[in-house]
Amino acid sequence: MSAPRLPKEIEALRQYRPLLLAMEAIGWFHMAGKARLEFLRGQGGEKSDYKEREWHKQETPPFAWDDLLGWANSLFPSHLPQTARPKSFAEFTEKHHGNDPGLLGLLQAAHGVVSGAEKNLPGSGNYLKQLIPHIWLSSPWGYPKRNLLADPPEILSPQGWKRLVDEIRRVLEDLKTLGTQGAGDVDPWLAWRESAIGKDSFIRRAFLSTLAETRLPNNDVTLWDQSYVAAALFKSAVARALLDPSFDPEKRFKSTTQWYLLTVALGTDHYEARAIKISDWTGMQGAVEAFFREVSGLVEVDLAAGSLLYKDGAVAVFSFLGELDQPSPGTRKDQPSPATPKWITGLLGWITDQIENLAKAQKLEYPPFVGLSGPTRSLVPMVREWRRAKEAVSIPIHRRWDIPEPESSPSQGHVCPICRLRPNGDPTDKGKPCPVCLKRRHRRLDEWLRGHLDNNTIWFEEVADQNGRLALLTLSLDLEGWLNGERVDSLRTQAIPEWVRFNPLLDGQPNPIDPQKAYESLTDYIGKRLNAYNQSDPVLSNLQEGFRHERSWPFFFKKIVEDRAQAPSWDDLNDDQRAAWIAHQLFRKLPSPGRVYRFWREAEDFFHELLGKFRQLVARSSNPWRVQRLVLELEANGISRTDLELYNGRWRGKPLSLLHLPNSKSFLTTSNLARLLRPEEAEKALKDERIELWMEDSQARFSAKVVAVRRPEGAYARLGVYHPVIPLELSPLRFRLLVPLEAASECVDLAVSLWQERFSRVWDRLPLRVGVVGFPRSVAFQGVIEGARNLEEALQGGEERWTVKDVFPEKGFVALLLQREDGRLIQRVVPTLLPDGREDVFYPYVAVEDPKVRHPRDFRHPEGQVYRHVADLRLGDSIRVAPARALTLFMESTAERFEVPSPRYLEEWSRMREVWALLQRVAPSQAALQRLRSEMARLEADWSNPEGRLAASSELWRATLKALIAEALEVRGGFLEALVEAALEGTLQWAMDWHMTALKEGA
Ligand SMILES: [Zn+2]
Repeated sequence: MSAPRLPKEIEALRQYRPLLLAMEAIGWFHMAGKARLEFLRGQGGEKSDYKEREWHKQETPPFAWDDLLGWANSLFPSHLPQTARPKSFAEFTEKHHGNDPGLLGLLQAAHGVVSGAEKNLPGSGNYLKQLIPHIWLSSPWGYPKRNLLADPPEILSPQGWKRLVDEIRRVLEDLKTLGTQGAGDVDPWLAWRESAIGKDSFIRRAFLSTLAETRLPNNDVTLWDQSYVAAALFKSAVARALLDPSFDPEKRFKSTTQWYLLTVALGTDHYEARAIKISDWTGMQGAVEAFFREVSGLVEVDLAAGSLLYKDGAVAVFSFLGELDQPSPGTRKDQPSPATPKWITGLLGWITDQIENLAKAQKLEYPPFVGLSGPTRSLVPMVREWRRAKEAVSIPIHRRWDIPEPESSPSQGHVCPICRLRPNGDPTDKGKPCPVCLKRRHRRLDEWLRGHLDNNTIWFEEVADQNGRLALLTLSLDLEGWLNGERVDSLRTQAIPEWVRFNPLLDGQPNPIDPQKAYESLTDYIGKRLNAYNQSDPVLSNLQEGFRHERSWPFFFKKIVEDRAQAPSWDDLNDDQRAAWIAHQLFRKLPSPGRVYRFWREAEDFFHELLGKFRQLVARSSNPWRVQRLVLELEANGISRTDLELYNGRWRGKPLSLLHLPNSKSFLTTSNLARLLRPEEAEKALKDERIELWMEDSQARFSAKVVAVRRPEGAYARLGVYHPVIPLELSPLRFRLLVPLEAASECVDLAVSLWQERFSRVWDRLPLRVGVVGFPRSVAFQGVIEGARNLEEALQGGEERWTVKDVFPEKGFVALLLQREDGRLIQRVVPTLLPDGREDVFYPYVAVEDPKVRHPRDFRHPEGQVYRHVADLRLGDSIRVAPARALTLFMESTAERFEVPSPRYLEEWSRMREVWALLQRVAPSQAALQRLRSEMARLEADWSNPEGRLAASSELWRATLKALIAEALEVRGGFLEALVEAALEGTLQWAMDWHMTALKEGA
């Protein structure tokens, strides 16, 4: 392979790196003035002198933008003359709302796409303001998270603001130092960016805790989301301008700039499937993370042509350069853009080579995918790019790929059992991994030894419960439809009748829209005006600020519809369809780039919060030894001591595992000590005891005497206590972790209740899916992970039609009685009030089967789907639901990984837990429960026909079950009826199977 030629654009980007990073920093900070109490109070109705765009002037001494950034002026190329730049860097803060030519216009373009889209209501939306007692930060799914003035975050205190200003100054001073030194090395720039906005940086935390836009319902996108995404797009647009000698400094680009999305992906599923031990997978993840870190470094800092906009375990998406000029309206967005200039394709080729080199540096066995989208003004096409990437990497070797060889690669031996590619160098041992895989296996161990894993463990034996059992939990939120904008169709930026109510007069004339038939009246109104474009139309110019400035319907349509949704283009539609799209988009909550970014961040935060709570749950025990480790010193003779070798052992008939600590006579325990020691026992119980030991991968046994016992100390002091949990994957799309089986049910209970609380307004469109694989320690990891994958597949499932059987409107919520497809009735409670007491007309809409718009708040998607507010539902309405589901599987051996039962509804999980609690209360003995369980199993088998269905009539079946339960448990009355019901729906059997087999629990 010949070395790829370095395109001149790459050289240029590197040369402009200081400038591009300075521009990105301007993007981060251009709205900093909003991170202040005075701003929120002003938004909340208090007249104040505070001007957030001029905060720098109000500092004493004034914040010196030009002193801090002036050095960058000398770096601009000649085609960006002084006239293309603002007179002062302060203008980026002061004028980010405007529409100017030159560089300022590029910031305005980025800002407009990210946040301007949120506030396109010219005054008519004033009723959507939140007032001082109720300035809420909400989740993107309507859950009120924090009252910012009643319970202010640190940033809103005077000290918080001062610290923020100091921090911004510090970041810009460090940048100046780097920029004026002309540092060519990438590392200091990487370190600078990380210290400015990395995961733990003050600026990120501060911006995340407050809002840029306080008006309803746009109080979900934090100041961080808007600032960061705007900065990413600004930086990419500037990169384009710097590379483009024909850049016209007189031109305004605010409404024409578009961006490319650069997608990089790895086929991580293949690695997961080949992992033999858990450390093979976690070690591989380390390599995958390192790869993505390097790719980020390349795109965000080395070339500084874009920033990360999305990331999960296998895919990363970056903003990347831009197109500054106006595409003609009606350009099809769903086709690969023929307009991608040749030099950008060339650039992509070079970057692809670099990314492949980064993959080879990590010795990755499969090639990465690198793709570039067509130019876009939203992140909505991101999911399409994501799918394209996932599809490509589903084939392991989807492009030419030479397996990178390690430096000193053995040429003989068996093929490595993990990668199945490289020889392991040992003709006598089939099970031995190759040097690359062995190194990966040890990677996690090294990190753990150095105390880098946040007190989480890496050892199955430590997670295992009293019975030596574990559970792999897998949780996911069905997020795709939110990231690609589809499900956002159900959310409103305001309700049409509300808008009419608060805007009775438009330009002095009565509002012509009939609030009783709001949707039809509005589409009809728009349809009648499509034959001529009247900039001063009272309805349209009241609904959309840009309407007054637009030239023609196709241009307006492009910005309001095509840029913000996966909609057909103007030319492919008739007037009715055009009117329907415009009416829909004007009242729909927008999947703006800041919001799309918030969607996946919020999902990831939800899993992080769960992890924090799970860590506490799994560590709970009446025996303090549950979470502690000891260091044992063994007598010298009889035992071969290899550093970091793992030994299995036995003491008091219970399993014990030990890790040989490097350069010492000591061993660290790596198994659950609560199985060995009683709570009241001291560590000296082990002293002078004999332990039977054998090495993990060999048969030879030793017996050794413990000569000393102590707590871990020195370099290992941090390993003294642990949380018995192994997080395997935490990404926006999936959360997998290992917990003790005895704690798994409580973890699921907690996840269910937290999901119900946070997602109650979108329960039908954002389902939680929970899988639990229980297994004894002896089952191989490969089998467990395959079982989990089968569970995850079974849990995905399409939508269902549920029927409304009753509606109980209460103060603050609506309780729905719904009939599922299986005929069972369930209740759902949906909040309908905002915390300030107003009705929530933004979130709780459901998709109904009814094709007719009937109620004033009903609306129809242009492609036909009607949405209805939950409070307007009536008996007999049929609604579309993506059900939340749960599934459990207990594996005694890997053979059971395919025996995945059908998934159950999530509410059945909670029912099953209640039934178990009831059983525990009423069952006279464990033996009685055992009897009931086997009798029921026998009965079901006897009464089933060959197809597995019950042959008896339902009356007879009920009567038989009732007699059986009454006899076995000696229960009567209400308890008996409840248990019979549970038996009929199968939750009684599930409760007994899960708790008695899997958990070894008794009544
Ligand atoms: Zn290997």
